[in-house]
Amino acid sequence: LFITLEGGDGSGKTTQAERLAEWLAGEGRTVLRTREPGGTEVGIEVREIVLHHRGDITPRAEALLYAADRAHHVATVVRPALGRGDVVIQDRYIDSSVAYQGAGRVLDPDAVRRLSEWATEGLRPDLTILLDLDADAARGRLDEARTRFDRLEAEASEFHDRVRSAYLELAAAEPERFLVIDAALPVDEIAAAIRDRVAGLL
Ligand code: C5P
Ligand code: MG
Repeated sequence: LFITLEGGDGSGKTTQAERLAEWLAGEGRTVLRTREPGGTEVGIEVREIVLHHRGDITPRAEALLYAADRAHHVATVVRPALGRGDVVIQDRYIDSSVAYQGAGRVLDPDAVRRLSEWATEGLRPDLTILLDLDADAARGRLDEARTRFDRLEAEASEFHDRVRSAYLELAAAEPERFLVIDAALPVDEIAAAIRDRVAGLL
């Protein structure tokens, strides 16, 4: 079972991934939690490049770096775990690239998606949880622990509006894959909604 979490910075993906992983472990499932970019040693280096040079990297080069991270991560971490029967809970996947590189950086979203489909040999999530938060609420949730990059991103509200709209369009196009939750709801309520949906997939 391959579950991905999507949403803007500060939407609560990490908290909900933890909660879901704890619940699944209690149900006796072996869980692998991972993330993109940076889920492998190679990925950590790619993450350094994209996070420290962002703004200076051309959009196409950036999209290729994310796709490279994803190709390596899927081949060396995600597919092996799924092959063992683990539940994989992953922070960000292809939808992040379609939303951030496609809509955010204004590349062709379909081209960005095809690139990632090639990179992953077509591995699709069974469920994608979209934690939807409007840009103002997202800004309010960011704290001082964030990197300078994140704060700059958070301030670019037009960018965030494009990303958010792209996510919502993706979810509307594939309602059977997506669970869209208002990220402004209480953490426990969100966790319960996620558990209900995942329970139906076990
Ligand atoms: O969620 P995480 O902290 O890993 O994301 C790091 C940053 O990378 C985020 O601020 C997000 O805006 C950006 N990102 C991106 N394109 C992706 C994935 C993440 O621009 N495909
Ligand atoms: Mg996070």
